Amino acid sequence: MPPPRTVNVEPLRRANGPTDAVLATCKLCQEPRELRVSHIVPRWMHKRVIDFYERSAGAQYVVIGDGVAMLGNEQLAEPMLCNACEAIIEPAERCVSEIALQADDTFPALENILDASHLKPGSVPLPVKVPFLDTSALARFAASVVWRAAVSKKCSTSLGPYAETLRAYLLDSGARLPAGVHVVTFVHDGRGVNGRPDHALLSPSASRALGCHWHAFSGCGFRFVTSVGGCWPAFLPDLCVERSGVAVLGMADMLLEHVLPLHRAAIPKGKVARQLQDARPGVSNGR
Ligand SMILES: [Zn+2]
Repeated sequence: MPPPRTVNVEPLRRANGPTDAVLATCKLCQEPRELRVSHIVPRWMHKRVIDFYERSAGAQYVVIGDGVAMLGNEQLAEPMLCNACEAIIEPAERCVSEIALQADDTFPALENILDASHLKPGSVPLPVKVPFLDTSALARFAASVVWRAAVSKKCSTSLGPYAETLRAYLLDSGARLPAGVHVVTFVHDGRGVNGRPDHALLSPSASRALGCHWHAFSGCGFRFVTSVGGCWPAFLPDLCVERSGVAVLGMADMLLEHVLPLHRAAIPKGKVARQLQDARPGVSNGR
């Protein structure tokens, strides 16, 4: 099924004024507050992808979610946080926004990594120290997106008891990553890689392997992999961006292993389906 297009909440009452805010329980502070519509993957990430593709002649922004491919602007968002809680999360998000891959193809985080010049497509990913990056902000940002996905009605991922662990961590702006939570941050160099998968946006998804639950999403040159619980592999703390000050540097062709299966499995809908139908008469798209 395609993701729902409408905001689905049960407001206690409509807020006065022209905004789309509603009064309901804030997911973070758990107080009854006027909520803002929060994006699960931040709006600036969507906007940057769209801006990049608009600059690329002939390219189109196709969103793949829940196994469906549709043209542009299908962004998962719902009333979730009050203004005060948005303000708690915002500094880490702003920090990541500033160092992430930009629509003009500059990538401040990557430009400070000297080892990046040695990579070429097919290279083995390389853990590198990143003392010039705010590693706590990277961890906090990754955790906030994963948590938002888990508490959203529109995503199927779940954090189990770690939803509450991450809620308490996010609410305390000075807290470090809780025990049992690790964030691995990949920095992808897309220069010279066909299709530029470093500009692809992949919504949070969850899997289980090596004794942990893994929650991953990608966008703007980064891939964030957050593990929760279980008996994590011994190497994991050494790759955790906050605990070790390390990011994993890799070429963006690595991302194809995540992008291509989604692309192949997605059922084209709407304009994407019609375009394919025009290009391949007689081929049925959709179900
Ligand atoms: Zn709140």
